[in-house]
Amino acid sequence: MAVSAPTTVPGPETGKKKKSKKKKGKASEKVENTGESVPTAPAHSSVPAAKSQTNTPPWHIEAAALADIYWKRDRSRKSGHEPTYEEMESWRTEGREAILNRWREELAGARYGRWTLDAIMPVFKEWTERRWGTLSYHLTQGLTGHGCFGSYLHKIARREPTPTCHHCGCVNDTPQHTLFDCPAWNDHRDTMLRLTGLDNHGSGALNLTLFVRSILSDEAKWQAIQVFCQFVLGSKEEAERAREIDPGAPQMRRRRTGRRRRDFVRAP
Ligand SMILES: [Zn+2]
Repeated sequence: MAVSAPTTVPGPETGKKKKSKKKKGKASEKVENTGESVPTAPAHSSVPAAKSQTNTPPWHIEAAALADIYWKRDRSRKSGHEPTYEEMESWRTEGREAILNRWREELAGARYGRWTLDAIMPVFKEWTERRWGTLSYHLTQGLTGHGCFGSYLHKIARREPTPTCHHCGCVNDTPQHTLFDCPAWNDHRDTMLRLTGLDNHGSGALNLTLFVRSILSDEAKWQAIQVFCQFVLGSKEEAERAREIDPGAPQMRRRRTGRRRRDFVRAP
């Protein structure tokens, strides 16, 4: 028996355990369709936010809801009543609500991934029930704040000596700075704001909450913000690659691969 949308396809944890070569704490998250890996913080720190993005509830929450439906049907049968289709549908609906409520409660108390969660939680139900919205590699970076941002490369990935923005000189290149403030991306940002209507968002500062509300309201707006993230973060990655191969670059910035890179990221 399965609880249908909005829980979507159960994650790998819900089924029979498969042998996996994935090491504990490996810092990556698969993204729909692209097959690419998004650089993320260590797994323990970003799992709740990542799960909320992919619409996959934690397995223990989904399992509890499925067990509840099972026992309701079992009790009914033992009392001599075979549940009708309508009764089963009603229990499944209750199960979906229970999953969302429990999931929302857990995310509200999550310590990590607040950049993402603070934007998604106000529209959590709409987010999990959205009819469109493939998460591309670069949109995921924007939504998680894990990617080619100076603050991330400095504090988490340990690839930069400082969090300075290489494109405008700002001393702290946070996701907020890159997406909403950095003057290097003004032209593309203006286009995106016009296409999404966010150019008339009011007097407050642009933020991720406005982004999320916008992409949920219209599929074309989702696409406009996705294209913006793709251009900006793709351009930043290109610049990062150029810095990596610069023979005069600090050692921490030089390109490393495989075990050598993982060991470096884990170093205290
Ligand atoms: Zn900047």
